[in-house]
Amino acid sequence: MEHVDVAVIGAGPAGSSAATWAARSGARVALFEKSTQGRDKSCGDGLTPRAVAELRRLGVDISRFHRIDGLRVQAGTKEREVLWPDGAFPNMGAVAPRAEFDALVLQTALDAGAQLHEHSVAEPVIERGRVIGVQVGSEVTRADLVVVASGAGSPAAKMLGATRVEGSPFGLAIRAYVPSTKADDRHMEACLTVKGPDGALVPGYGWVFPAGNGIVNVGVGALSTMRNFSQLNLNTMLDSYMAQVGRAWGLGEPVARPKAWRLPMHVENRSGPGWVAVGDAAGLVNPFNGEGIDYALESGRHAAELFAINPGTVHAAYDALLAKEYDPFFATARRFAWVIGRPRLLQFLLGIALSTGFTMELVLDIMANLIDSEHRSLAGVLLAGGGRVMSVFDPILQRSQESGTSDIRAKIEASR
Ligand SMILES: Cc1cc2nc3c(=O)[nH]c(=O)nc-3n(C[C@H](O)[C@H](O)[C@H](O)COP(=O)(O)OP(=O)(O)OC[C@H]3O[C@@H](n4cnc5c(N)ncnc54)[C@H](O)[C@@H]3O)c2cc1C
Repeated sequence: MEHVDVAVIGAGPAGSSAATWAARSGARVALFEKSTQGRDKSCGDGLTPRAVAELRRLGVDISRFHRIDGLRVQAGTKEREVLWPDGAFPNMGAVAPRAEFDALVLQTALDAGAQLHEHSVAEPVIERGRVIGVQVGSEVTRADLVVVASGAGSPAAKMLGATRVEGSPFGLAIRAYVPSTKADDRHMEACLTVKGPDGALVPGYGWVFPAGNGIVNVGVGALSTMRNFSQLNLNTMLDSYMAQVGRAWGLGEPVARPKAWRLPMHVENRSGPGWVAVGDAAGLVNPFNGEGIDYALESGRHAAELFAINPGTVHAAYDALLAKEYDPFFATARRFAWVIGRPRLLQFLLGIALSTGFTMELVLDIMANLIDSEHRSLAGVLLAGGGRVMSVFDPILQRSQESGTSDIRAKIEASR
């Protein structure tokens, strides 16, 4: 039976980050990935300045990917373009197709000394209430810490209680790679008012992220707080959005079948004796924009650093860190998800927000994941204040969420 210090389930950004940092601190790391050959995660491929900062820290060179200088936000007839600000994070983003990006981050983990096992982990192994390793086929690998980095809705995470908090918002999103005459554009475009074939607003958020090689990543996402979420058809929404932006972007036909997946935003247990969950498995996706690569990279690092400090206290220390550094922002964002779920109200508020440079900067801070408890900006302070006011309405907001979980798999399957 193999015995390692850290076993990591999943080699997405969260798992590869955890494996890299743990291996660099001298730990013996076994990294399990079920689909290294041709893995292509459904994603917008957008790297925020926050993600770029974390990749620099990790030592990953992303210069091969298309550089992004700022964000363009559309709401109804209003449109605003802003450059990433100089500040706590680099003033650049990028669009990094996941098949290539994930391979690059995985290679960083292997270079650091992590051992890759190209196998699916059947389940974490539990002894006397503590996770003591992972089971692959009939083999058990024992580990002092199991890092669950297996993404959204994975059985391994569910088994340990890292399940969606009932009544909390979650998202579904779909993306397509599409030829475009404007693939060299240096702005990510986000549209907060997606229209249906009849021109009426449909609940959802659309994006076009230029990848720089003749291709753009086009997608739409929807939150469970949106009206009619249970009737949502991601393919139809994507078609509508592509029709809406097709001319401006010179879009052709998708090069492959669009792919959908879920966006977890709040899970019950993120750690326990012998294990921690990181990235999507811990529900770390921003409800404002569906972005989570940055949080995945960061949470992987936190888990590894806390393990290096004290393997005995890692799970409690990790939970405390998430509670302090991430939960306040995520709690506020989940409250605002209720507003995002009402397209007309959202359009009205965005109309105001997009009308001045000052308010637009607030939108940018939120949309670019520039806010956290460490980097206090005016947008962060205003958002936190708004969140506190809205917390009074928590019971009403929770009742207004559609449960709609039963047919998630059907929606995703229908989009494959
Ligand atoms: C359509 C869409 C668009 C998005 N756009 C963006 C965006 O533009 N920018 C952004 O920052 N975020 C975006 N996100 C969110 C982002 O994709 C996730 O937050 C991010 O991938 C989380 O990384 P992760 O490592 O936690 O999980 P994942 O990337 O899902 O990686 C999990 C890994 O675990 C492996 N695995 C699972 N189970 C097992 C097992 N039992 N054994 C072994 N291996 C296993 C999987 O194969 C996978 O490789 C988007 C999401 C969606 C659905």
